[in-house]
Amino acid sequence: MRYYFGPAGKPISFPGRAIEDIPKFLREIGLNAMEYEAVRSVRISEERARALGERALEFNVKLSLHAPYALNLAAASEDTLNNSIARLVAATRASMWMKSFITVFHVGYYGEYSRREALKRAIEALRRVEMLMETEGIVGVWLGPETMGKLRQIGSLEEVLDICKALEKARPVIDFPHLYARSRGEKYRHYRDFVETIELLERELGTEAIKPLHLHFTEVEYGSRGEIRHHPIGSGYGPSFENLARALIETGVEAVIISESPLLEKDAIKMKKILEDILSSSGSF
Ligand SMILES: [Zn+2]
Repeated sequence: MRYYFGPAGKPISFPGRAIEDIPKFLREIGLNAMEYEAVRSVRISEERARALGERALEFNVKLSLHAPYALNLAAASEDTLNNSIARLVAATRASMWMKSFITVFHVGYYGEYSRREALKRAIEALRRVEMLMETEGIVGVWLGPETMGKLRQIGSLEEVLDICKALEKARPVIDFPHLYARSRGEKYRHYRDFVETIELLERELGTEAIKPLHLHFTEVEYGSRGEIRHHPIGSGYGPSFENLARALIETGVEAVIISESPLLEKDAIKMKKILEDILSSSGSF
């Protein structure tokens, strides 16, 4: 399997109640991935998480997990920093229970620090996270720093690359709409920009680090400070999924594409169809 498509969180049209029934539902509607959203806090019990993981394996659904938003790994306050570290470790623990391959997280904010100093602090905090994971025996889970859409957030492409290079357990999570919003629509207008980014990741981190490459996609509205809100695929805000799809096909990279559109699974299906149409018209499908 080269491409995995799925929603960020519980599908909107999922008729059931039990979370462990979601993988079967996703397969029925033609999808094979889901990013479990623990974005408020990590509340899932070990039993539930393990049940979800078993069913995901059974139905061949690739799972990832998004850590709580309330994280700041460059926080000036010692308390905030320690809480952030504890929350991220808890997220990796739940990830391991459900056999999710990566724990996606937002690194934090520059705050009063220079960009360089904030990044350095975040890397130090993440080294502590790695140590705690090791002490606790949390294995099989990557740490996934995400590229961020607001200019006050740590998470340019270069910063995510630096974090991945500095840590043993980190792999990049590329949110192209965030990078597009961060550049205020200057980058990722052309498919060559997507190709260049994928090739840069491969060159800087090695092929294994992006096997598979974890991606978020939606169309996004931006302003002078970056990201404002998400819009459905095809709404015209950009970036265009066709361009990403062409870049994925050209580079041959294996990818997990998580729909963060307001339409979640409906747009995951739409993106899958767009990619398949390009593949079949290029004769390589
Ligand atoms: Zn995120």
